[in-house]
Amino acid sequence: MRTALQILLHGAAILFLTLLSQLGGLAWVLALPFRRRRVVFFAGFAAIYAALSVTAAWVAPTFGRVPMACGAEGPLRIASPVYCLLNRHYGTPELAAVLNDLSRDMTRRHPDATVQLLDANFPFFDGFPLLPHLSHADGRKADVALFYLDPDGAPGPALRSPLGYFAFEDGPTDCPPRRLTLRWDLAWLQPLWRDLSLDRVRTRDLLALLAADERVGRIFVEPHLRATLDIDRPTFGFQGCRAARHDDHIHLQLK
Ligand SMILES: [Zn+2]
Repeated sequence: MRTALQILLHGAAILFLTLLSQLGGLAWVLALPFRRRRVVFFAGFAAIYAALSVTAAWVAPTFGRVPMACGAEGPLRIASPVYCLLNRHYGTPELAAVLNDLSRDMTRRHPDATVQLLDANFPFFDGFPLLPHLSHADGRKADVALFYLDPDGAPGPALRSPLGYFAFEDGPTDCPPRRLTLRWDLAWLQPLWRDLSLDRVRTRDLLALLAADERVGRIFVEPHLRATLDIDRPTFGFQGCRAARHDDHIHLQLK
């Protein structure tokens, strides 16, 4: 009975870590020979996971994806080290070029502007989604953070939420409230976020630059945010009412 429960728990851990970081499940499997002593097991898991993650950064380019923003030089920054720790910062070389060009162009317009990368893609395998983003499965999609003003009203690097997600800008929507949907409102979380206002100037310029890039095929941003920012382009799209809201971040995908 105990063995069956252990197998179940290990299976759940392997599944969860694979979905979270792609390589975590494999690291757990490789650490299983040390499972008799818990401290040794977790130390072994951490060491194996670190080794796999470092190796992925070297090997992924062979499979058509490169690491982005983590420790790299240049104006593109990762919004949180969590994304790097979980191997969620990979993309095709073309996506990396688009994001680096975007960051450079933003810095030219606004020397204080840093484009912050959120979830991108895992290092390996087309068709392996980076949950909860079902479409981030081919190395050609990425999310970037909105820009905010500091409490004193000056343009700043701070984000409203630690990971750059789920701090929604309120606005009208045609989507009916539904229970079974990925369009989370997470109302209970909203009071926890920093009370920063959207930097309309820099966010608008970011959208304009993205829309002007011919390599970018689609940009998801909530309709009410487009109206507030007074910007519309043919590449702007709405993800639909069953997918995640896009008034806490911007989603872009290559053609
Ligand atoms: Zn996205």
